[in-house]
Amino acid sequence: MHDFKVSRINPLFIIIPLSLFLVAAVLWDLVPKQQEPIEKTAFAMGSALTVTLYGGTEETADQISQQVQLLEHRISPTVSDSYTSFINRNLSAVTDADYSGDLRLFMEWGAETEGAFDLTLGAVSALWDIGGENERVPSEAEIQQAMKVSGWANLVIDGNTVRIPEGMQIDFGAVGKGMACDEAKTVLQADPSVSGAVVASGGSVLLYGDSPDGAWTVGIQHPDKEIGETIAELQLEEGFVSTSGNYQKYFIRDGKRYCHILSPQTGYPAETGLKSVTVVADSGALSDALSTACFVLGYEKSLPVLERFDAQAVFITDENEVIPTDGLTDALTLQAA
Ligand code: AMP
Ligand code: MG
Repeated sequence: MHDFKVSRINPLFIIIPLSLFLVAAVLWDLVPKQQEPIEKTAFAMGSALTVTLYGGTEETADQISQQVQLLEHRISPTVSDSYTSFINRNLSAVTDADYSGDLRLFMEWGAETEGAFDLTLGAVSALWDIGGENERVPSEAEIQQAMKVSGWANLVIDGNTVRIPEGMQIDFGAVGKGMACDEAKTVLQADPSVSGAVVASGGSVLLYGDSPDGAWTVGIQHPDKEIGETIAELQLEEGFVSTSGNYQKYFIRDGKRYCHILSPQTGYPAETGLKSVTVVADSGALSDALSTACFVLGYEKSLPVLERFDAQAVFITDENEVIPTDGLTDALTLQAA
């Protein structure tokens, strides 16, 4: 007779690992995990609009692009039934209070930037058509003719009625993408489930609420390298950041670079020893307007203007020197060459 041993598995071998597994699963559920953000990209204001939301809903992300598209339909000179197109065609229009209010504010910014920020250069920009299909160096006579009717001081705002002289063209190109970021902020404030967000419209960015990484990181494009390669980084809290640069839209003729930011004094592309200016400010419209204005003014003349508006900036010079204003020194990290 054989002796058979009946081998039985001790139940503790199952119960102990099972209970450990269950305890681990419960604990894992209690550990706060990095949220997956909601990400959406649309096309608005002539460039990409990217929305990244932490918390919030798909509807909130969609509402942002809808509001920006509504803004575009009010201010864009390329949308035929916008207020701007109507004024540019008919030389006067009765607008709503928001439109005339914005325009009045932007005229004040024209004065406060020594005329460097000027929304009335559309006819001069059209001659150069930089980034368009008819890029060219216009004749001196053409530029002088267009300059005669341009200039923010020639624009009249009477209540909600806006009037321009024949030949002037209003152009929101220097401020529209920043205004889009302001619209985005208004939408986000109505959704308390959003803990943080980044909204980028072309060269303007809104940093909203709290970053899951502690601070928001914004890269400053290297002016001579591929898009996405940065020359420096800023670590920032909530706010608005806009960059104007001579690498964004330009053409080269006979070895000379002509960029899309014009000097309102000459009607020629601004050349003030800078490749780009990045401005950090409390409103999107302001950061956008100031980045254009500071590019036109150059480093020295920009400093009192930035101070007046309580804004900060990072300048990239023609020699690729990176110069922050005092308030951004600690926030700035240079990229290894
Ligand atoms: P930004 O990229 O924000 O600096 O805006 C540049 C755009 O604003 C150009 O493409 C023109 O449409 C317009 N613009 C050019 N020069 C000026 C200026 N000095 N003031 C205001 N708008 C300008
Ligand atoms: Mg601008």
